[in-house]
Amino acid sequence: MNSARVVGVSKKFGGVTALHQLDLQIGQGEFVALLGPSGCGKTTLLRLLAGFESPTSGEIWINNECVADASKRKPPEERRIGMVFQSFALWPHLTVYENVAFPLQHQQQVPEAFRQNPKARVAQMLEMVGLGGMEERFPSQLSGGQKQRVALARAIVFNPTLLLMDEPLSSLDAELRMQMRKEIQFIHRELGTSIVYVTHDQSEALAMADQIVVMKSGRVEQAGTPHDIYYAPESPFVAKFVGRANFLKGSWAAPGTFLLEKHGAPALPITVSRDFSAFYAQQVLPVRPDQLKLSAWQPGADGIVGKVVHVQFQGRELIYSIRVGEEEWEVVTDISERFAYDEPVQVEVCL
Ligand code: ATP
Repeated sequence: MNSARVVGVSKKFGGVTALHQLDLQIGQGEFVALLGPSGCGKTTLLRLLAGFESPTSGEIWINNECVADASKRKPPEERRIGMVFQSFALWPHLTVYENVAFPLQHQQQVPEAFRQNPKARVAQMLEMVGLGGMEERFPSQLSGGQKQRVALARAIVFNPTLLLMDEPLSSLDAELRMQMRKEIQFIHRELGTSIVYVTHDQSEALAMADQIVVMKSGRVEQAGTPHDIYYAPESPFVAKFVGRANFLKGSWAAPGTFLLEKHGAPALPITVSRDFSAFYAQQVLPVRPDQLKLSAWQPGADGIVGKVVHVQFQGRELIYSIRVGEEEWEVVTDISERFAYDEPVQVEVCL
């Protein structure tokens, strides 16, 4: 069962086409991250789901009801949608309690028990976001992280069908962002609300989402689990945009067999089980830094030989830059796998 569906939606603003015939399904209780570079249409898609915009063509469905097409649009307050923005968007003249309680009076389809006893419901939500007892403060008396927690409590207080979040963590510092990631995931697990989360931070999408939708120029470039997006990118754009990728040069002998170019030696066949047809034209194989394994060079050994040109300490991991022929590959290893600068190493591709 889906909590929302976007069916063949296009959105034009004058001469600009922000979305092109876009399809998307958001499953019940699913955490979907919309990921893509600036201007690819993430916010536009979120605003269409929220009800602030109408599609130029196509349909938006929420809970098995068509809420918008080119000729009609159900307003936001009738869609049971919670929203959190980067800018918090709290009412400065209202207390924390009044901010969080606001949707209980103004949203439609609020469970009657919450309307009857808003104090208990607001207290429960503030407890959940770690702000128990802060009811009487005003937004100006809160830190950035606390403001974002109030915005979150306000978005979930009326038990929305869908929670829309537009870069909610981007105005927080790095440490707070990491902490809030966990808290949002906790709330998602506790409440089971479907979430659509806009970000241009690929690590956020990989860490939090059940489904990542990578967008480019108003289209879905690829949608899938974080694992699939990372290990089975369907285009060079996705391979580059999400995580790091090495593009190994060679030729595709057949689907499933890549012949790695080895200057002055026979090409090395690498068998792959995933569909990399999007990479046939460029004759490259996308390989993540954790899919390459290093070992000490053995004189006379077959395989790929490279040389360590750079190493970065990353706590439990090391990131090596390895020169192989004309190219430089990035390899992530465990901290225990130590190789010296200029040391020759064997490189194995482990797909
Ligand atoms: P960012 O990450 O920078 O917020 P985004 O992926 O959210 O970008 P959108 O804000 O959805 O992108 O914009 C998509 C395209 O539509 C852009 O080219 C933008 O300039 C255009 N656009 C968005 N809203 C409007 C508007 N109200 N009027 C005209 N053009 C618009």
